[in-house]
Amino acid sequence: MYVILLGLPGAGKGTQAALLKNETGLAHVTTGELFRENIRLGTALGKKAQPFVESGRLVPDEITIGMLLDRISQPDCARGCMLDGFPRNLEQARALDEALAGDGKRIDRAIYISVATGKLVRRLSGRWSCPNCGAVYNEISLPPKTPGVCDNCGFQLEQRKDDRPDAVRTRLEVNLKNLEPLLDYYRAQGKLCEAPGEGDVEDVTRAVRACLEGEH
Ligand SMILES: [Zn+2]
Repeated sequence: MYVILLGLPGAGKGTQAALLKNETGLAHVTTGELFRENIRLGTALGKKAQPFVESGRLVPDEITIGMLLDRISQPDCARGCMLDGFPRNLEQARALDEALAGDGKRIDRAIYISVATGKLVRRLSGRWSCPNCGAVYNEISLPPKTPGVCDNCGFQLEQRKDDRPDAVRTRLEVNLKNLEPLLDYYRAQGKLCEAPGEGDVEDVTRAVRACLEGEH
């Protein structure tokens, strides 16, 4: 079974895939891992991807898809896998379907872990760090004892520009623009299942599991 995990940054795709990996026997395949492994092993595709990765440019789709096809034919993907981080847009989804069809394979399901943008802004923009000792805090999950002050050393905490609410919101809106056509694409194929992602981790896991088991 080949599953695409969809969701905005911070929705919990990685967390859920890690939790469900052992239970389902579906490997968790991320694009980050694909690039790292191919570059480390010096594969032909890794050599092609390396200059893009090192300069922070987008790796061309045909390279990423080539790596994905290699990856899903490995033994730990025998029962299938959960793809996390690809496709990110409609063009990539179409190219992936075409490549899989060439191998006699297909995507069985797309699971969308849905979390309202406003909630994600709060989740993602709550990061503060200490410029003195490097300690990292989160307003919601790991708040300092005194707001804005480091527990360890008493320094004033700072927030990175990228972690400020307006920057986070802009980043999410760009992601959402690419995500919506993807949802439509898999919905039209009857493959989309939505797992509400706003509850406790266990509730979200239950919803994702239900999607994997075929309940829509
Ligand atoms: Zn500190």
